[in-house]
Amino acid sequence: MSKAKIAEVFDSVQGEGIYLGEKQIFVRFFGCNLNCAYCDTKLDQFMEYEPHELVEEIKLYRDKYHSISFTGGEPLLCKDFLKEVFRLTAKGGHKHYLETNGTLVAELEELIGNIDFVAMDLKFPTSSGMGDLWDTHKKFLKVASQKEVFLKAIICEGTKEEDLQVAIKLIKEISPSSVLVLQPNSHEDPVFLHQKLSKYKEICKQAKVIACIIPQIHKLTGLK
Ligand code: SF4
Repeated sequence: MSKAKIAEVFDSVQGEGIYLGEKQIFVRFFGCNLNCAYCDTKLDQFMEYEPHELVEEIKLYRDKYHSISFTGGEPLLCKDFLKEVFRLTAKGGHKHYLETNGTLVAELEELIGNIDFVAMDLKFPTSSGMGDLWDTHKKFLKVASQKEVFLKAIICEGTKEEDLQVAIKLIKEISPSSVLVLQPNSHEDPVFLHQKLSKYKEICKQAKVIACIIPQIHKLTGLK
């Protein structure tokens, strides 16, 4: 039986992206296959769960929720575990919301049938420092587009416009109705970033890509 390292399970409201403010149950997986320069989820504690143990814990949350957010780290690293969780929760009535770095294509292919929403990162090389992931992102977005998907890019002081142009091309080619969320790096100068983000939003508008600027609200409000 496949186990997973999970850092925390809790309920709160979504603090990022186009489902901002929706009430969710969060399952935060420990561990990631990337190491982004701006990462603020360097976790140091986890508990090991079997699939049925996670499902039992989820059942303790009895309010009305938009969905269960599987987040991280990178949840798709625990593909076999998630497959079993989805099987066990099939009649539970919860929708499944995947927050992902958009790199594990084969894993997504296996799970996409049981996912309702995909919140996919686009790792701009000049933001993340992770090198060129565009081909992988392209393949991933093709699979994710089977369901409702929006994209999220972290914009930093050092982000270059050439990355935005690649992202625009990719979105127009693969998933033209998907929204691109431009998210300022919360550790950098907000005034400088605001100007940059406004310019990037205008570039998207000219290119006919739907873009919006949404900061991480839970950091501004102190919400978990
Ligand atoms: S993908 Fe997300 S969790 Fe992984 S290193 Fe990058 S920012 Fe951190």
